[in-house]
Amino acid sequence: DFAADVQALIARRIRQDVQGMHAYAVQDSKGMVKLDAMENPFSLPPHLQAELGQRLGALALNRYPDGRVNDLRTALAQYVGMPADHDIMLGNGSDELISLLSMACDVPAQPGEARPVVLAPTPGFVMYAMSAQLQGLDFVGVPLTEDFALDVPAMVQAIAEKQPAIVYLAYPNNPTANLWDADAMATVIAAAKQAGSIVAVDEAYQPFSSRTYMDVIRANPAAHPHVVLMRTLSKFGLAGVRLGYMTGPAALIAQVDKVRPPYNISVLNYECALFALEHQDAFAVQAQEICAQRAILLGALRAVPGVKAWDSDANMVLVRFPGADDAAQKIFDGLKARGVLVKNVSKMHPLLARCLRLTVGTAEENARLIQALQETL
Ligand code: PMP
Repeated sequence: DFAADVQALIARRIRQDVQGMHAYAVQDSKGMVKLDAMENPFSLPPHLQAELGQRLGALALNRYPDGRVNDLRTALAQYVGMPADHDIMLGNGSDELISLLSMACDVPAQPGEARPVVLAPTPGFVMYAMSAQLQGLDFVGVPLTEDFALDVPAMVQAIAEKQPAIVYLAYPNNPTANLWDADAMATVIAAAKQAGSIVAVDEAYQPFSSRTYMDVIRANPAAHPHVVLMRTLSKFGLAGVRLGYMTGPAALIAQVDKVRPPYNISVLNYECALFALEHQDAFAVQAQEICAQRAILLGALRAVPGVKAWDSDANMVLVRFPGADDAAQKIFDGLKARGVLVKNVSKMHPLLARCLRLTVGTAEENARLIQALQETL
C-alpha cells in the first residue's frame, strides 16, 4: 500500500542520520504573548507600512532577483562599517549562512579518517551543531564556565587538539545573552589562527549589544585573516523577511559564496531590507526601547524571591528558578496556561538547569509575563 511504499523508500534512500533527527522545533504560538524567539515586538509605524506596501506592489515579481541585490550588499557593508579587502554575502537568514559555511569549509571524512570538526562553546545556538552534523562534520561543544564565561584554557586546548574547520563565537551568545570578555576572545581567536580554523563571530543580537567585534577587526585587520562576522535583520525587526549577512576577507567570502544557491535572496527580501536600512532610525528607536524594557524586566525578575536573572546584552533574559529539576518545566507550563509563551532551555545543557529564556517584549507583554509568573509561583 501507499504508506508502506513511502516508508520503504525512506528506509532505503533517506540518510540514516536524517531519519534519526528531529526537525527544528517551532512552538505553536497562536493567540499567545510570544516571548520565545527573540523577535522584535514592534511593527513598523503605519506610515512606513503604507510606503513599504507601495514599493513592494510595484516590484517585478515575474522576474528573478536582479542586480539590486548588490545595492543591498553595498548598503549593509556601509551599515556595518566593513573594512577594506573585505566582502559581504547574503543569506536567507543567518541560518542559511551557517549551513553554507559548513558546506564550504570541509568535506566529510573518508572511511577510517577522523571527521572534520565544528567547535563552539556550549550552551550555544543549536544550528551550529545541526548544520555540522548534516554536513557530516563532528560537532565539539566546549562547556562555558558556571558563570557563562568562555573557558579559555579548555577552548584553547580543544582547538589545538581538534584543529576545527570552523569555530563559532556567538557575540552575544544565545541563550546566555552575554558577551565574551575581550581578552578571552582575543586568545581564542589567536588559537584558532594557529590551528588554521575559520572563526565565525555571530552577532545576531548586535542591535542590543554594548560592543561589536567589528570594531576589533577594523582596528587590526592583520590579526583577522580567518575571521568572518555574521549579522541578521531578524532581531533588528525583520525576522519575517529572512535576511542574514556575512562579512569577511574578500577572497574567503568569494569561496563561500560559490556554495550559495542562485537567487537565495528574493526580490521581496531585498526590497524590504533596503527599505529598513533607509529607515534605520525607526528601528534604532525600537532597539533602544527594547533595551530600556530589558532593564525593567530584569528588575522585576530580580524582585521575585529565589529567581536568578543574568545580565543581558541581547533582547532575551536567562532566568533560573529555585526548586526541583522540573521547576522550569512547571513554570513554563504555568506561563503557557496563562497565555505567555517562552522557551524552556533547562534540558538543553547541564549549565542551564531550571532555566527559562525570556524574550524582551513590549512594556505590556513584559507586565503580563511578570503577572503570569507571580500567579504561577
Ligand atoms: N545566530 C544566533 C546566535 C541566533 O540566536 C539565531 C536565531 N535565533 C540565528 C543566528 C539565526 O537567525 P536568522 O536565521 O533569523 O538570521
